[in-house]
Amino acid sequence: MHKHYTGLIERYRNRLPVSANTRIISLNEGNTPMIQLQNIPKMLGKEVDIYVKFEGLNPTGSFKDRGMTMAVTKAVEEGSQAIICASTGNTSAAAAAYAARAGIKAFVLIPDGKIALGKLAQTLMYNATIIQINGNFDQGMELVKEVANHAPVTIVNSINPFRLEGQKTAAFEIVDDLGFAPDYHCLPVGNAGNISAYWKGYKEYALDRVCGNRPIMCGYQAAGAAPFLAGHPIENPETVATAIRIGNPQSWALAWAAQQESGGWFDKFSDEDILVAQKMLSQYEGVFCEPASATSLAGAMQDIKSGKIPEGSKIVCTLTGNGIKDPEIAMQQCLDSKPVTIDADLDAVKRAILDNL
Ligand SMILES: *Cc1c(COP(=O)(O)O)cnc(C)c1O
Repeated sequence: MHKHYTGLIERYRNRLPVSANTRIISLNEGNTPMIQLQNIPKMLGKEVDIYVKFEGLNPTGSFKDRGMTMAVTKAVEEGSQAIICASTGNTSAAAAAYAARAGIKAFVLIPDGKIALGKLAQTLMYNATIIQINGNFDQGMELVKEVANHAPVTIVNSINPFRLEGQKTAAFEIVDDLGFAPDYHCLPVGNAGNISAYWKGYKEYALDRVCGNRPIMCGYQAAGAAPFLAGHPIENPETVATAIRIGNPQSWALAWAAQQESGGWFDKFSDEDILVAQKMLSQYEGVFCEPASATSLAGAMQDIKSGKIPEGSKIVCTLTGNGIKDPEIAMQQCLDSKPVTIDADLDAVKRAILDNL
């Protein structure tokens, strides 16, 4: 019988901490497409299968919805009337949307001026209370942890264990879609919750023999915000990829465990490399992700070229968020391809076409 898709908690409820009585707060998140890249592997000149898991197609445009459906469902189940998070943008958008859906309040702490325009607009529309701080994400995170001891609010950052429970379903979807786990899983690392959640999901499936293998986990950071490469938290993270502009990752130990248990690695990439990968995905594959997301492909491309990821490999790159969220960076990326303005007549249009074929 046909069943209307109602989100990842319903789909994977036997692997998630809900009961038959739990009121599920969902926007039908998850079930995002796996798109096999066709042109970029050819350009690399290597025999590899690269799939992108396009998490930008979640209801608020990022993978944060996976964690938020679970965190808000549990907050409501526990009787909470308000949630709070620190955010570089996407967590605040997701928290605000799921709070709206649940009928509770959302408070979000964001770094002043360092949040992409689309993320700010969404969060305002979902009617969260936005608190801008003169400080960065890491400072916001510390304040959120403090204030939760002094006010009746539930933290929905990824230190909330239900966030990772929801996010692990992305690994389930990948295995259910491919019929196996990939050889390599590449993703951007900021606060490091997502790499930890994927690893948890793959381990669960392998333990239950849903898949026979587990991927090697490759965590890629922005060069200006790369504490996993430094080996310690860093003070003033800076990158164009604002979603991963984080110096003190909260899932530090879990992410190291994922790297070590899987035999994987961390690496870092310049803003320029990240933006090149973002543009390549758009212009050669038709997939528009936000800058932070493209860090996964920047890493995969480098490691495929060098042979660290060998030919014959099956690779999944998570594209964490939608490019539409950050129109300002996109416009800067396309300064050389401004629209041509012409008279509104047939000859002028004809010329514009022939000049640009
Ligand atoms: C949150 C986020 C990340 C980083 O994920 P972590 O779990 O914090 O490592 C990467 N890209 C985008 C678009 C994000 O919103």
